[in-house]
Amino acid sequence: MSLVVMKFGGSSVGSAERIKKVAERIIEKKRDGHQCVVVVSAMGDTTDELVDLCKQLTDHPPAREMDMLLSTGEQVSMSLLSMSIQHLGYTAISLTGWQSGMTTDCNHGNAKIVNIKPNRIFKAIEEEKIVIVAGFQGLSEDGEISTLGRGGSDTTAVALAAAINADLCEIYTDVDGVYSTDPRIVRVAQKLDEISYEEMLELAQLGAAVLHPRAVEYAKNYNVPLVVRSSFSHREGTLVMEGNAVEKSMVVRGIAYDKNVARISVLEVEDIPGILATVFGALADAGIDVDIIVQSGVRNGAADFSFSIANTDVEKAMIVMEELRSTVTFREVTYETDLVKVSIVGAGMVSNPGVAAKMFRVISEQGVSIKLVSTSEIKTSCVIDRDKLTEVILALHTAYGLDANQQAFVGGPKERR
Ligand code: ASP
Ligand code: MG
Repeated sequence: MSLVVMKFGGSSVGSAERIKKVAERIIEKKRDGHQCVVVVSAMGDTTDELVDLCKQLTDHPPAREMDMLLSTGEQVSMSLLSMSIQHLGYTAISLTGWQSGMTTDCNHGNAKIVNIKPNRIFKAIEEEKIVIVAGFQGLSEDGEISTLGRGGSDTTAVALAAAINADLCEIYTDVDGVYSTDPRIVRVAQKLDEISYEEMLELAQLGAAVLHPRAVEYAKNYNVPLVVRSSFSHREGTLVMEGNAVEKSMVVRGIAYDKNVARISVLEVEDIPGILATVFGALADAGIDVDIIVQSGVRNGAADFSFSIANTDVEKAMIVMEELRSTVTFREVTYETDLVKVSIVGAGMVSNPGVAAKMFRVISEQGVSIKLVSTSEIKTSCVIDRDKLTEVILALHTAYGLDANQQAFVGGPKERR
């Protein structure tokens, strides 16, 4: 018998009918002899709808009240799911984040889990109950209801799995696993059987929406085996785990993209020490996340530099840059919006030279110019125009041998462990 955490996302519990299906799925697992602790998201688009409601009343909702509001979504789905399970003849109990012993810091709207004391969960398990826990929420150290940031139910599930020492954490969602790239763009995208924590973390951070990056980080730190699978089918999902040799044989495992990218260029900046610290310090103070930064060589005592930020932050960033004119000398600031960052990810990249060069070549063959580049040991990212995204992803997917029907020629047939 094993202890399994099963997490169901918003679309999986989007209607009464779907909740019933989820209840049956859980009961099936229970009948197979497993102990089940279930984490749920809010039904369908509930969280978005709550945010919209709030916007009709104020542009500046107090963070505490926002958490009071948003935490209700998960309580609706957890109680309905528990009722549905009980109606089908099994014992179940729903617990809020705070009843589950989920303590967070006081950062409303984006709280981090500080510790978990799952006493009530253990007690309920002892009583043979199926435990349903509200995702995305906790109790802050000063006794207030907190939420973990959008998409935070994944984190609840993984953190809980670590805290109760579960054998497995299953993330049930509306796709049947992690794909080599977005299957809506690439028809021959393939579902990966396995992926390492590191690769999954990069993919999640670079735009693959299937798992929340913080959840993957948690899984990696606590070595929680994670499975992403469909709540609508019984197809085997993707196992996210410690890296292994099989993975290393594939140089590139996945392609991710982020459509919310803009570039800002600062031209002819006076080259004196501390300039970058001043500029990026001011941007950070304004809450603007800077991603890629590139500085060019110095000419006549002046340098140019460019950086990427979220498209949605451009206006704010331009205001910051104008304000900096009084402290920093530069000729001009230009910006370009509606860009996209395409990234290739694979743990094997470290030991395979030429992977990035190939990416640049493939992109240039599409007649697309690269605006910014960043690399790490296991990823290369290029910022390009958004209108060429589809062509570029299709070309890269083929070039790195990721198309489903090419698979056999690239890394050899994959062995199941
Ligand atoms: N309901 C929350 C959201 O929509 C948390 C989650 O679904 O993971 O962001
Ligand atoms: Mg989600």
